[in-house]
Amino acid sequence: MKYWIVSKEDEISAEIKKTLLEKINLEFTQENPDLVVVIGGDGTFISAVHQFPDAIFLGVHTGHLGFYANYTLETISNMIEDINHQSYQIEKIDVLECELNTCEQQIKTFAINEMTIIKPPKTLILNVNIDQQKLETFRGTGLCISTAYGSTAYNKSLFGAVVDPSLKAFQIAEIAGINSNQYRTLSSPLLLSQDRTVTLEVEQKEEVFLTIDHLSYHLKNFINATIKLCLGKISLAYPKGITFVERIKRTFLKE
Ligand code: NAP
Repeated sequence: MKYWIVSKEDEISAEIKKTLLEKINLEFTQENPDLVVVIGGDGTFISAVHQFPDAIFLGVHTGHLGFYANYTLETISNMIEDINHQSYQIEKIDVLECELNTCEQQIKTFAINEMTIIKPPKTLILNVNIDQQKLETFRGTGLCISTAYGSTAYNKSLFGAVVDPSLKAFQIAEIAGINSNQYRTLSSPLLLSQDRTVTLEVEQKEEVFLTIDHLSYHLKNFINATIKLCLGKISLAYPKGITFVERIKRTFLKE
């Protein structure tokens, strides 16, 4: 089994990396690693997932505990033992499969947290279709489509629901919808089942900004985007006994 480390550039992370390199009994290589240890926060985690989507991930949080990073400075020795004995649990995480079409190109990618579409400094007008049936025409800053894991990230700031990842669902939340009589939309976040396909389209080609997790695309001649759920694409390892309720409490609710 081969492993690799993706780490934040700070002193604590460098110290953890040094300890791991000394104590993990696996081959250390960037070439198709089976396992990737991420040292940092959820932000470092999502960027590592985009680099090595087929690996098993273990996250060490160097600040507070996060949603993806389940080990801390205090539990490093447990992590080393879990890695050397492969005694971690694995959760399969769903992602969004996104197809972005412009006049010139088609981009196929995936998002572990969310995809957003905006058009600063103007408002964006978008037709929102579900399973090829028109739901509404949205006008406002933009839309955020998130996974269950991503529901605690940008989506939560938009007052979207926090979703239990065992639910196979994804969610659309509005970013500052205007909601006049001309452009009336649902306004509330919309939770969709795994079988749905969302298409966002502009009436004529448009210049937009699209984000896929931490990545951004400036698309000059955007036409449409198709988004659906792809089940269990990412493998997240975590210590035995950590529950969904604990993850929510440790991130958002002070004891
Ligand atoms: P960043 O702007 O440096 O940090 C984003 C923050 O979101 C960090 O505190 C990060 O936690 C946290 N985060 C990331 N994924 C999360 C999750 N699934 N659940 C709970 N918190 C999460 O950007 P970045 O580090 O590159 O991360 C990109 C993410 O930022 C995007 O995917 C988006 O969700 C989020 N974002 C949020 C807003 C907003 O809430 N208004 C706006 C833009 C982007 P750590 O401190 O543990 O890294």
